[in-house]
Amino acid sequence: LRTEIARAEKMSIVSHMAASISHEVRNPLTVVRGMLQLLQYDDFAADKRHMFLRTSITELDRAESIISDYLAFAKPMPDKLQYLNVVHELLHTVTMVQPLANMNTVQITTNMKTAAAVVQGDKQRVQQCFLNIMKNCIEAMPKGGLLKIHALQQDSDVQVLIQDTGIGMTKEQVARLGEPYFSTKDSGTGLGMMVVFSIIDAMHGKMKVESEPGKGTRFCITLPLAVAYPEAAATQQ
Ligand code: ADP
Ligand code: MG
Repeated sequence: LRTEIARAEKMSIVSHMAASISHEVRNPLTVVRGMLQLLQYDDFAADKRHMFLRTSITELDRAESIISDYLAFAKPMPDKLQYLNVVHELLHTVTMVQPLANMNTVQITTNMKTAAAVVQGDKQRVQQCFLNIMKNCIEAMPKGGLLKIHALQQDSDVQVLIQDTGIGMTKEQVARLGEPYFSTKDSGTGLGMMVVFSIIDAMHGKMKVESEPGKGTRFCITLPLAVAYPEAAATQQ
């Protein structure tokens, strides 16, 4: 019964997300379509045309951001959870954000104190979770800084620490993290952290956030290790 309830919860998160992503992506596409249609039939002055084009690009970027914050949720639930090496998934995510880090002159350091922390989860979702956090950290350091990533094993858990030296958050902002559409960015989606919390929840994990304005932010994620796992999962990858 317990697994059935957990599954029902997950399915409801997924269907909620799916309904919301199509709605969220459709809005900017509708705006862009409207503007292209105007440009096609009417003779506007150059400044007006430029305004339409700028708005269209902004709206398309928005659609792209929504899709990239959500991507792992777009695919149907896997029938079976995989055994995942957390360190491997973290390092893979680091390679994904490296270009963004370079653009912001952010230096990434990793310190993995565990080689084979195996958890059960969906590979793409775990990567999406780490990706959304790391992206936010890098975006919080527009003038450069340090992104530190640590992993260590503690009893039957693995702890993942992701820490930046960025703009930080007030207590009120920390409290609102994960609230759908909460964003302090000009073109933010406010969906990235909601996805992060859903994924950690589904894995029966926890997250603690410590932040100080002007100093930086630290995300501490605790995930339960897989109880029994094939020997191969720990050594492979
Ligand atoms: P978005 O990044 O599109 O704004 P998110 O859900 O990813 O949406 O993040 C929500 C908000 O949480 C951000 O707009 C920002 O205010 C805050 N936030 C998240 N991570 C950090 C961080 N590392 N440093 C400072 N603020 C953060
Ligand atoms: Mg984000």
